[in-house]
Order: sequence, then C-alpha cells, then structure tokens
Amino acid sequence: METFQGFPVFGGIAEGNILYFPKDRHNTVCIRVSNPEKEVERYDSACKRIADRLEQLYEKALNEFGESKAKILDIYRLIVMDSEFTENVRTMIREKRVNAEYAVSYAADELCDRFLSFGDEYMRVRTSDIRDISGNIIDLLNGDTADRVAALKEPVIIVADELSPSETIRIDKSKVLAIVTKQGSTLSHTAILAKTMNIPAVIGAPIRKNWNGRPAIIDGYTGQIYLEPDDETEKRYADKRTQAEDIQKHYSALKEKDDITRGGRRVFLYANISDLSDVEGVLENNAAGIGLFRSEFMYLKSSTYPTEEELFEVYRQVAERMKGKEVVIRTCDMGGDKLPKYIRIPKENNPAMGFRGIRLALDRQEMFTTQLRAIYRASAYGNVSVLYPLIISVDEVQSVKKLTEEVMEELERDKIPFGRVRQGVMIETPAAAVISDLLAQECDFLSIGTNDLTQYTLAADRENEKIDKYYDIDHPAIFRLIRMIVDNGHRFGKRVTICGELGADVNYTNQFIKMGVDGLSVSVPYILQVRDTIVNSEL
Ligand code: PEP
Ligand code: MG
Repeated sequence: METFQGFPVFGGIAEGNILYFPKDRHNTVCIRVSNPEKEVERYDSACKRIADRLEQLYEKALNEFGESKAKILDIYRLIVMDSEFTENVRTMIREKRVNAEYAVSYAADELCDRFLSFGDEYMRVRTSDIRDISGNIIDLLNGDTADRVAALKEPVIIVADELSPSETIRIDKSKVLAIVTKQGSTLSHTAILAKTMNIPAVIGAPIRKNWNGRPAIIDGYTGQIYLEPDDETEKRYADKRTQAEDIQKHYSALKEKDDITRGGRRVFLYANISDLSDVEGVLENNAAGIGLFRSEFMYLKSSTYPTEEELFEVYRQVAERMKGKEVVIRTCDMGGDKLPKYIRIPKENNPAMGFRGIRLALDRQEMFTTQLRAIYRASAYGNVSVLYPLIISVDEVQSVKKLTEEVMEELERDKIPFGRVRQGVMIETPAAAVISDLLAQECDFLSIGTNDLTQYTLAADRENEKIDKYYDIDHPAIFRLIRMIVDNGHRFGKRVTICGELGADVNYTNQFIKMGVDGLSVSVPYILQVRDTIVNSEL
C-alpha cells in the first residue's frame, strides 16, 4: 500500500479502480503506427461525426439566422468534406505511417500557410476557422474525459492532471466514484461542480501515471489517497463509512424541518444547482427554492449556442418541478475558466478580470436576449427570478433592465405568456459591494457571490492553488463587506442572500444570521448540514 496526501474538497469515501487522464490529452505528437489503414478509418469516422454535427448546426443556423449567416459554416464543411484536405491527411497517414492527430495538424498547418501566402485579408481570417475545425477533429480523435467515461461499464475513480468545468459537467455521474486532480483550487468551478454532483473530491494530489488501473481508497474528508490499500486500511474505512452513514441518517431526519432558529428567526435555505438533474436533490431536501441556477453550464455542455426553445424547455421544467418555490436563474456567467469553444473572444492575459459575466452578455446581445426570452417565458410556469453576474455599475443594471423591458414588450406583442420576474444583482465585486445601496434601488434583491468577492477583494486568483493561503475566506474585509451589503439592501427593503461557497460553511452560519442575512444558497449536499446548524442556533 502507498499513501498520498491531497487537499480535501468534498467529503465522502470512495473505493474502486483508478482511471488516469494525462494533462496533454489533445496532443498532436507524431507517433509511428503499424496499421495505417486503421488510422485512416479512425480519421474518416471522426470526420463523419464532425460532418454530421455541422449538418445539424447548419440547419439550426439556417432556421434561426438565415442563409447568409449559416454560410459562415461553409468553410468548416469544406474542410471536413473537401477531398483535397482529407486526401492530404490520408496520404500522409499511409505514406509516413503516422497517427491521424499528427497528420491532421500537419495538413492544417500547410493549408493555413497556403491561405496566408495569398496576402489577402479574407484568407488570413479564414486560417482561424481552419485551426478551429482541425482542433475539433483532433479533440474527437483523442476523445475527452467525458467521452471516455461515458464508454465505461463500471464506475471509476477519476484521476486527472486537470479537469475543466466543461469536461466535468458532461461527465456521467453514475460512472464516477471520486475525482482526484493534481491541479485546481478549492474554489474552482470544477471543485464546485464536484460538490454539486455529490462526488468525493481531492485536489493538489501528487498523482502519477502508474496509478492507472490500480485499486484505491479516496478519503474526501481528509484528502488521503490509499493506493492498493491493505486489509487493515480497508477495514478502517469500512468503519469510517458506517460512521458517515450514521451522520447522514441524523441529517436525513431534518429533511422536513423548517429553517427556523431556536429563537424563532427564519433563514431561507436555498439550493445552488447547475443542471436540471440537480432539482431532485433540492426537492428531496426541501430547500426553500433555488437561489442560484448557474445557467452557463448548459452552454458549456453544448457544442453550439443553445436555442431559445432548448433553454426554455429546461427552465420551464425546473420552474414546474419547484411548484411555486422561487427559482433564481443567473444569466450565463461565461468567460474566464468557463468558455465554450464556440464563443470566441480575443486572448486575454487576465481572464478573471476580463471579458466575462455581464460584460460578455451585454456585448453578445443576441445570445443574451435569447436567454432572457427563455427565462421570461418559463416564468409563466412557476416562480422565476433572474440574477445578473459580475455587476460593477448602476449603468450595467440599467442596460440589462432596458433589454428585459424590450423582451417583455416582444412577448406581449406575440401574445406569449410570462409572469412577474424579480430581478437580482450579484454582489461579487468590491465595486458592487461599495455601491450596493445604489444597486439595491435598481433591483428586487441582492445575492452575495463570496467566491468572486473574495478573489477580487483580496487580489487572490480563486483558480490558482499556489496562492491558496492568500484566498483567506474569513478575512475581516470580506465580513465587513457582507455586513455593509446586508445593511444597504435592508435600507431599501431588499432581500440579501449569500450564494457563494462561504454560505455553506457552518462555521459562519450564526455570524450570518446575526448580521441579518435573509437567506443562504448552498449546493444540495450541504443543505441538511446547514439546516442542522440553523435549527440548533440559539439566535
Ligand atoms: C460567486 O462568485 O460566489 C458565485 C456564486 O458565482 P461563481 O462561483 O459561479 O462565480
Ligand atoms: Mg461568481
């Protein structure tokens, strides 16, 4: 047995075999192959899948944006279906006996060089399309984590150098016993997703390639990893698992309890979700509603912009299943570590402070109004509110409100029903906290995003595990800001809740109640633990 120590992100004990994912999964290194025909077959089948996807995309673009916009996809179709490009790839595989990934990247480089040699602006711009589509073919040839997990028969412990949020959200939960990564920080969106998915998770682990296929025990409470555990460790963990189950039983008894302190104070305990599938847990644990629906994960799961109908369908189902309880849908907070491939923005050196959240939404108004229409339409089927991320100014809120008014006018004109949608502002930047009195006058409620508020206030990147010690969750600056936001919100009669991870930390629940925080929105697996603290609070 070998023992390793990582950093615990989400509790739970898992036992099973490891499946290892190296960092450079999308590599294009040249590998000699013994059976070139097999490589050609692999390449042809990847092209066929991409061509099918493109056909669907073309149809969708044609219906939604018309022929001229849909034609943008022509260059993509040309590359995967074009005989010259594909023949070059096939010839290279056969003649040089190399792997398909390398041949595609080589052929794409050659084609780009040819386009650039024309000295024509139009051709120059097209080289980024070539890079994009050849990257897609290579990704498909390599297969990403989610694809590989989907093909598994038995659940595994995923051990990866790094995992992006878009891979994590697509992973089939039923096939994953635990997630262990080398990189990542406790506040990264991948870590938050592991919590939402109720999967034991450990980060910062000294993982090695040779762990692949070996049995292990992962302790998500302590961050310990036991490779090929001995009998004694297995027995110890069987006991630990029984203890964990006993605690769970204690919590289960709280499922129907009201979130009221011993002193009679009501705290609204909401749930954070990222997916329709999380709603079951929200209902099972009887949360007061959904305080944060991180809607961007639907965009990350998709290979192209979700349509209004697709978004509406999910929002409607969430609203209906919540049966009148509030559902706060945060408009998509993309950018930074959450950027799907089909959204192109110029490369940024500092993406956390760049083009993300409401900035991206206001710049891509078509995408934004499509989402707003879907949200407003869903409001006819339940109690729906909307929440705007990364706000720094009153202007931004006013611009968003103008768009919502236009959306309502359009829906009215088209006789499409919608209900009253309360509008909330996320307070997750120091600027928003300082002007929270002004923002409170512009909206119906405030929701404090402590994850970003902490990163921006303390100048400590939440994604960078190397500066974890500066990301000090109980820094007095954060608590002063929270108090100030609560007071400002209440001064204008507005509800103030916390939806960042700090809201789920039971070490601070009493402090928040004392400050007058109206509600806490936490990932589903934390609901009962926080309720336990609320109902036992003397306040
Ligand atoms: C936050 O920043 O606290 C928050 C809830 O949003 P996210 O974690 O998705 O950035
Ligand atoms: Mg945030």
